[in-house]
Amino acid sequence: MATQHLTDLSIHELHGLLTGGEVSSEEVTRAYLARIAQVDPRVKAYITVTEEQALEQAREADRRLREGRDITPLTGIPLGIKDNMCTRGVRTTCASRILENFVSPYTATVLEKIKRQGAVILGKLNLDEFAMGSSTENSAFFPTHNPWDLERIPGGSSGGSAAATAARLCAGALGSDTGGSIRQPASHCGVVGMKPTYGRVSRFGLVAFASSLDQIGPLARDVTDCAILLNAVSGYDPKDSTSVDREVPDYTRFLEKGLDGYTVGLPEEYFVEGLDPEVEALVREAISQLEKQGARVVKVSVPHMKYAVACYYIIAPAEASSNLARYDGVKYGFRARGYKDLMEMYKKTRSEGFGAEVKRRIMIGTYALSAGYYDAYYKKASRVRTLITRDFMKAFEKCDVLATPVAPTAAFRIGEKTEDPLQMYLSDIFTIATNLAGIPGISVPCGLTGEGLPVGLQLMAGHFEEHKALRAAYNLEQALGARTWPEV
Ligand code: GLN
Repeated sequence: MATQHLTDLSIHELHGLLTGGEVSSEEVTRAYLARIAQVDPRVKAYITVTEEQALEQAREADRRLREGRDITPLTGIPLGIKDNMCTRGVRTTCASRILENFVSPYTATVLEKIKRQGAVILGKLNLDEFAMGSSTENSAFFPTHNPWDLERIPGGSSGGSAAATAARLCAGALGSDTGGSIRQPASHCGVVGMKPTYGRVSRFGLVAFASSLDQIGPLARDVTDCAILLNAVSGYDPKDSTSVDREVPDYTRFLEKGLDGYTVGLPEEYFVEGLDPEVEALVREAISQLEKQGARVVKVSVPHMKYAVACYYIIAPAEASSNLARYDGVKYGFRARGYKDLMEMYKKTRSEGFGAEVKRRIMIGTYALSAGYYDAYYKKASRVRTLITRDFMKAFEKCDVLATPVAPTAAFRIGEKTEDPLQMYLSDIFTIATNLAGIPGISVPCGLTGEGLPVGLQLMAGHFEEHKALRAAYNLEQALGARTWPEV
């Protein structure tokens, strides 16, 4: 089989070929490695490619496949990992100078899980430094390019994961989402991306940004692959006390055609000024497709959502400033040279090791938590967060899923928003409230703009109701039919 073709297949298609003995995992892995060598110099999705390990894992998967032992839907499937998940023996950089050469002594639970299931890990993917950003331009190493238009950003912060999945540089990927970092790049790159319910997936070994918001989730070429990856990473982990001990259903079981008896809520607060008319038209068309599949569409309201960005930019930086206090040149990674005393060592290390956006967040967060300001900022933001969560709970009394845009515009040009942090923050206006409420959200492709740029539809559901969002997403995907992939 032509190697180019192998990299175009979905996880479930590859699984059929692997278990049917038509192709080996080593062949598939070599096809991906060849494509990475050929295409990634333009896309720049990978920070580290782990070629040797990948081939070794592929050969082990092939043994399992031959012997018919412990075969799972991921056995022999090459995946990419956002470089903020710890891997023993391979560096975990978070796209930061401060962790440039950091090798974790342990591996993240999600990676232990997918490795046990026989997945092949191709390498570690680019992101905004410490997952702070919406464009992957905040990587300390290099920006990632959108495979649909190399002059544009892939979204962020899981820009490497989304771009690699779209450019067929991996069969699927894991990302993390604190305020939109899986869904927004998925939308901009035309792939499926899901942020699960807070607590659905273990965060053990995910380098912490904002611990009450962070969640790991899949980026995939279609909804079925997304469900397969979600199956693989979900579940309770004693090493993460915020993971929830609750049965994990087989999410692929819910991918059924037809939405009879389904109610889709349209929250009016998401269809507002600033939403690009072309994006809005594609999103509304997608919603009418859901209606054609049998869903009933109702108007709902989440009135406090208008405070979500302000609320997030207190809570996330506050948690970040405390999480990032550990990078002081003593225990991890980088230490500056040429200091006179301990205090100067701290200062130089942090000044040289962190990029501008990370410093901005640390300053905002430290300010918001400081004595005398805590009540005015952090406490107030926490209260607003509760109001936002209640709004969602109320909305879900009237509907199964909420349908909204993912991002106000399609992918913007590299450099377009780097001088204006506020504009950058507003690219997450539609994704942030989901994290504040802890509910699941998926971005599913709903078409291309006139310029040929992908746009996603966001579907949100109640806590632990991933299956509802997946089912609606699956129906949209089926209704829209065959998709094209970017030539790159
Ligand atoms: N863009 C948002 C931020 O910069 C969200 C990032 C994320 O989800 N990790 O904080």
